[in-house]
Amino acid sequence: MPRPLVAITHVSAMQANLAAARKAVPGARTWAVVKADAYGHGLSHAMRAFEAADGLSLVEFDRAARLRELGWQKPIMMMQGMYDVSDIEHLARDDLQPVIHHAEQCRMLEITPINRPLVVHLKINTGMNRLGFMPSQASEIYHRLVSMPSVRSVSLMTHFANADSNGTMPDVAAQIAAFAHATAGLDAEVSLSNSAATLLQRQIRGDWIRPGVMLYGGAPGMQSALSLGLQPAMTLQSRVIATQSLRAGDSVGYGSLFIADQPMRIGIVACGYADGYPRLASTGTPVLLNGVRTRLLGRVSMDMLAIDLSPLPDADVGCEVTLWGEGLPIDEVAAHAGTIGYELMCGIAARVRREVRD
Ligand SMILES: *Cc1c(COP(=O)(O)O)cnc(C)c1O
Repeated sequence: MPRPLVAITHVSAMQANLAAARKAVPGARTWAVVKADAYGHGLSHAMRAFEAADGLSLVEFDRAARLRELGWQKPIMMMQGMYDVSDIEHLARDDLQPVIHHAEQCRMLEITPINRPLVVHLKINTGMNRLGFMPSQASEIYHRLVSMPSVRSVSLMTHFANADSNGTMPDVAAQIAAFAHATAGLDAEVSLSNSAATLLQRQIRGDWIRPGVMLYGGAPGMQSALSLGLQPAMTLQSRVIATQSLRAGDSVGYGSLFIADQPMRIGIVACGYADGYPRLASTGTPVLLNGVRTRLLGRVSMDMLAIDLSPLPDADVGCEVTLWGEGLPIDEVAAHAGTIGYELMCGIAARVRREVRD
């Protein structure tokens, strides 16, 4: 018997979420973001699910080459561009479109002859202060890129820091204004919106959107995925492999962080932090036991965690446990561990068995 823990990727959920993204911004084309092995869902499954996307977008060169091997013929965007001049040969060979965000990358393009000129994406830093040229440089860099023999065409992009919040922080409106000002008069296609902007900032209009987490059923902000009409694309599932009967005063696990205040039964589940379940999840983190909500108890171990069997008095070894997935949003589990659904999706360990369902 294999260990009962399995991470299931749901292709139809990813298809439905892509449709939701496209519907949210009618007329825009879609870069489906598949970095980090499609946020942990499997690159080849994502490629199949996102057949209807206009392009795929990621940051890893070996994975981009893999997409071409698997037969993806539409555009591929490299969202961090090239890291070294030697990457340019890969861009040309696999017809990849680099984001150009730094002067050093312009220089690489200028000094490297290419037989097949590249489509490039000029990134403007409008307030995120991660990647991109200052707005005041946008026009100059744009014209410099357009004039290079190694460049076929240039489009424009920026990235929002707070598209999921209203008000308090450097906001979307200020970033849009900075972008509009920086790119005024430049004749180019524009891509702006991540998932949060796609779902929550409907006023934004770009030629392309760049949704990531929403395609996997993750909520980009405080609103629940369900209320945003998204379907979970991953189920992390295991089984109860042991039970214990506690007396009042008995404790559970390392550090004895949970102490029973009355007699109760607990189940030990084959899933721990070495599988990608967050160790910082504490007592009370929701778990589904045969579809019924119960709670995590005490500290998560490397290969195991403990749950409360009280809601199902007949529960025993073999009962199915859902750590996240349908009926238990990944973001809710993440919130109990002080993190976000993104991190949990991407963090499933290599030892976890994988399955895919249509
Ligand atoms: C990861 C990424 C996205 C997708 O972000 P989500 O929040 O997952 O929708 C879009 N654009 C860029 C540049 C990214 O790095």
